[in-house]
Amino acid sequence: MKINRIEIFDTFCQDRPQWHPVFVRIHTDEGISGVGEAGLAYDWGHSAAANMINEIAKARILGSDPFQTELIWNKMYREGFWAAGGNAVFFAAMSAIDTALWDIKAKALNVPLYQLLGGKVNPKLRTYASQLQFDWDTEARKLIEPIEYARAAEKALKEGYDAVKVNPMFYDKNANTMYDLTKLFPHNFMQLVKARMKAIRDTVGDSVDIFLECHSLLGATSAIQVGREIAEEFNCAFMEEPVNYLNSALHDKISAKVSVPLAAGERLYFRHGMRPYFENQTIDILQPDIGLCGGITETKKVCDYADLYDIQVQAHVCGGPVATAVSLHLETAIPNFYIHEHHTYATKRWNRELCIQDYQPQSGFMVAPELPGIGIELNDEVVMKSKAFDVK
Ligand code: MG
Repeated sequence: MKINRIEIFDTFCQDRPQWHPVFVRIHTDEGISGVGEAGLAYDWGHSAAANMINEIAKARILGSDPFQTELIWNKMYREGFWAAGGNAVFFAAMSAIDTALWDIKAKALNVPLYQLLGGKVNPKLRTYASQLQFDWDTEARKLIEPIEYARAAEKALKEGYDAVKVNPMFYDKNANTMYDLTKLFPHNFMQLVKARMKAIRDTVGDSVDIFLECHSLLGATSAIQVGREIAEEFNCAFMEEPVNYLNSALHDKISAKVSVPLAAGERLYFRHGMRPYFENQTIDILQPDIGLCGGITETKKVCDYADLYDIQVQAHVCGGPVATAVSLHLETAIPNFYIHEHHTYATKRWNRELCIQDYQPQSGFMVAPELPGIGIELNDEVVMKSKAFDVK
């Protein structure tokens, strides 16, 4: 089997102009095709990822045997020069290509992808409603008042979730996005954040897990402040991405001073990026993004490596429907699965229409697709409008 064509889509959603899932569709001379997604759907970098996929496709993918995933992965990594430093754009591109190759392999063997990863360990995946600060409804919006946070949590509960995630410090009282939270919180802002968290906890009671999202916006000192006054105070099950990843010593300090487990990993690339956090045991819940970490080939290895340190895994999922579907396969097959993330964007029409299949939770649980491969196909009626490259 040989790869004879690679299509690359840098999508544009009319109703959400800042949302750009990047897809690749790899075709073979036997008529089987596979899809993958780069993990840069939001903020900056999507067009760079699409261009990077195009360059790698022309240089190393066209003409290759898609079954040789390990060889192709190592060629992309070793022969592309820039991967050796670890970076979002390069790894997003590699990840998208690798994912599409696994889709082809599983389709050719006529099995769902999870069967190639070890088979079914977790038949049902407990799922949480993620990012309540954008509401939990048909359209995303900024939540400001504590009562709005309570209502968003209520809506998630009604759909059957028993776990929710929120960043209660993402907006100030005037709806400004708080991009710099590195300084100690002023008293009045801390009171607003506490009121939002109290509103959620009072609504959901003690039988629901609350996860505290920090988006790497805090500094080490404000992270300890938030860890103690918010995460500990409201019995959060974990505190996510307290600080940036560039100095792993920050995590050492925070994990020593905050008693709540730390979750992180969506901005770490392949095994080497994870290493200091594993060896120092400062990540308790790992969140590798299959579209950034290095695709299925690398993320499976990372999950097994995490298991060595009793670290549990929830894939980071904030992308198009391909990212959701592939995560379900990985999470079905790994013994250290913790919970599945269902991002509020995954529930939106402008995201769901990008693919034919639409995998959504039922009563707070998701299951992996049973179709051959990943079980997801691009919706050509929508994505063909944003085809960026066609390599053949
Ligand atoms: Mg996150």
